[in-house]
Amino acid sequence: MRVFCQDCGKSAVFDPHQFRCDCGGAWEPEESASFDKTKINSSMPGLWRYQEKFALDEIGDPFTLGAGWTPLVDMNFNGRQTYFKLEFMAPTGSFKDRGTEVEINHLRAAGIRDVVEDSSGNAGASISAYAARAGLKAAIFVPESASPAKLAQIGFFGAKLHKIPGPRSETTKAALQAVSNGAVYASHAYNPVYLLGQQSFAWEIWEQFGGEAPDAVVIPVGQGGLLMGAWLGFRRLMRAGLIQHLPRLYAAQPELLSPIKAAFSAGLAEIPELVPAGISQAEGLAIVKPVRGKRILQALRESEGGALTVTENEIKTTWQALALNGLFAEPTSATAAAALPLVYKAVGPDAKVVVALTGSGLKSPPKG
Ligand SMILES: [Zn+2]
Repeated sequence: MRVFCQDCGKSAVFDPHQFRCDCGGAWEPEESASFDKTKINSSMPGLWRYQEKFALDEIGDPFTLGAGWTPLVDMNFNGRQTYFKLEFMAPTGSFKDRGTEVEINHLRAAGIRDVVEDSSGNAGASISAYAARAGLKAAIFVPESASPAKLAQIGFFGAKLHKIPGPRSETTKAALQAVSNGAVYASHAYNPVYLLGQQSFAWEIWEQFGGEAPDAVVIPVGQGGLLMGAWLGFRRLMRAGLIQHLPRLYAAQPELLSPIKAAFSAGLAEIPELVPAGISQAEGLAIVKPVRGKRILQALRESEGGALTVTENEIKTTWQALALNGLFAEPTSATAAAALPLVYKAVGPDAKVVVALTGSGLKSPPKG
């Protein structure tokens, strides 16, 4: 698989042991082929209907836990007809499975036996499940403060759990130490194959809209894997002439930690590290500097979308409002739904807007 470095532009064949470029930049998949819609194989389960689009010949017959092809449901939500993409219906309860299912198939085919990941919980659970299914050994580094349900889930899949005290960045440092000792970093932030899997999010929405793009997509953004997948996926559809415009992509973050909004509003090309103003209930978004910052900003600008922030109270009331409509997502996902009034203000009240509900409410249920 050919990749390029988002920072220095270097092109290479992806080697999982070199999780990033020598310059420190993240690898991104090169666009290998145009999107041929006649080659969507609807007899394959989940996201494997797009296997030909991944162009990963080494995978052969993939194994699956059932990632992808999540429902798109629409309803009147707070007075506006809104589309919700139910990513929480993934095998481990989060959108991460979309990327992980393709990534772990690829690592297994490459003969990898040991993987390391760092995560606030969802990516760790996802990697643990797929490593178990593929017969790989997994070590997962998590912040000590992560939700007990997420930690229990990771451990129950049989992964070795390392609880790291201190801020989220300390967890990444500990994982990188294990990588320098020889394990492969199965990182949802860095792995380019993971991004291939995330592109299926865009392709499914396009199919579910009958071969059209919606007007806007709102995504809660931590490292930005789903936002990157949406952008790259819709871009491929556009280059193939299958859609006429990109949906406007919106990144939603809590006010307490919004490095993307800060950089976007200041017109910067890269996202500087930001000190959190406090600890948000949107625990999956506790990223002070996304690895793919430059590309995230490019995605928002190219699609004429933007970066939006919401208060803790808005997250909380929207979380409850989702549940009162039958949708049990986690607070991290509610961050995107909470940004809807700002999105409709920008795109108009009758626009077709998709909200990604990225994780299950069972991951961090309400207290009491
Ligand atoms: Zn580089």
